[in-house]
Amino acid sequence: MHIAAKHLTKSFGRFQATKDVSFEIEKGKLIGLLGPSGGGKTTILRMLAGLEQPDSGDIWFHGQRVNDLPPQERGIGLVFQNYALFRHMSVFDNIAFGLTVQKRSKAQIRERVGELIELTGLAGLEKRLPQQLSGGQRQRVAFARAIAPEPQLLLLDEPFAAIDAKVRKELRTWLKEMIDRVGITTIFVTHDQEEAVEVADQIMIIHEGRLEQQGSPIEIYQHPQTPFVVSFIGESTQLDHPSKLKGFERLQLDEARAMIRPEFLEIGLPGELSLPSAAEDGVVKNVIFRGTNWQIEVEVAGSRLYGYRSLERPALQPGDRVKVLVHRVYLFNDSDHVTQENRLKYDPMPVHI
Ligand code: ATP
Repeated sequence: MHIAAKHLTKSFGRFQATKDVSFEIEKGKLIGLLGPSGGGKTTILRMLAGLEQPDSGDIWFHGQRVNDLPPQERGIGLVFQNYALFRHMSVFDNIAFGLTVQKRSKAQIRERVGELIELTGLAGLEKRLPQQLSGGQRQRVAFARAIAPEPQLLLLDEPFAAIDAKVRKELRTWLKEMIDRVGITTIFVTHDQEEAVEVADQIMIIHEGRLEQQGSPIEIYQHPQTPFVVSFIGESTQLDHPSKLKGFERLQLDEARAMIRPEFLEIGLPGELSLPSAAEDGVVKNVIFRGTNWQIEVEVAGSRLYGYRSLERPALQPGDRVKVLVHRVYLFNDSDHVTQENRLKYDPMPVHI
């Protein structure tokens, strides 16, 4: 189902939980609503579900304005973090619930529930009660129950929040495969960026009631549209005077500050870097072992930056003199932003022979 939200605004008393939020979602996509706590993600989800009415703005499902449709007529399936399974019903009866409400025949119910038990890997557990299941199994029952009546849109609110880290990772891979297989347009709320980046086709970043950016994980990562998105996705260091860096003497934005991600830096001993003429001199200030690599903090042009270094390279120590290549910086001022590449990478200084 194609979904459109136009200028959604919602207040609770004097507090504006959602401010002029507009977006479109293509059919069959898996969308992650991502942002810090209290940003308005659940409010957006609840408005789509019909559990909350927007103060202004419209919601369209497949070309039909649904603002006035009650939740049960919107063709949606819901999954919440606290499972919300019926405690006194078996796995089978939980999954069958929506079909029973739709007054499907016993044979149809048996067939559909059987399909879903198979699909979600719950075979053998049909007769168990929710409290006899693990957290991951309960969430799979909740998923099966939500999609049993063949909804056109599936809404998941922090579906894995209550589950421990390892099972959570397995479940999100599982969820992605399920959604790809059943092809239902799905929106899930999370405040875990790794989860959103790994699972979603598209991410919507929600902050203080606003939609900061919508795009594929890679677009959001490589082309952030606001300083908030840069600081929220991945890691970064802020720099007040980026024009002091080699290759960035002429900034593309006036009075800009910069954010630099560790992946934008190469840190190495003299002779190790790909483009030494574009590199700065730096001094190692701190070295942290991160399991898969070293995190190196360096002082460069009067600022502290950090980057990563492969474990295959010789180890560095605080005090070592190093070369630091800043590949690009994200510049922003009060009204604009741009990602600027190191000029010397494309326009190296003339070599005199
Ligand atoms: P979280 O990740 O913590 O669930 P969220 O991004 O989903 O946060 P919302 O639950 O949408 O955020 O809440 C946005 C803001 O609106 C919060 O400050 C919250 O306290 C407020 N809010 C939400 N529902 C209500 C309500 N029914 N009455 C009053 N305030 C509410």
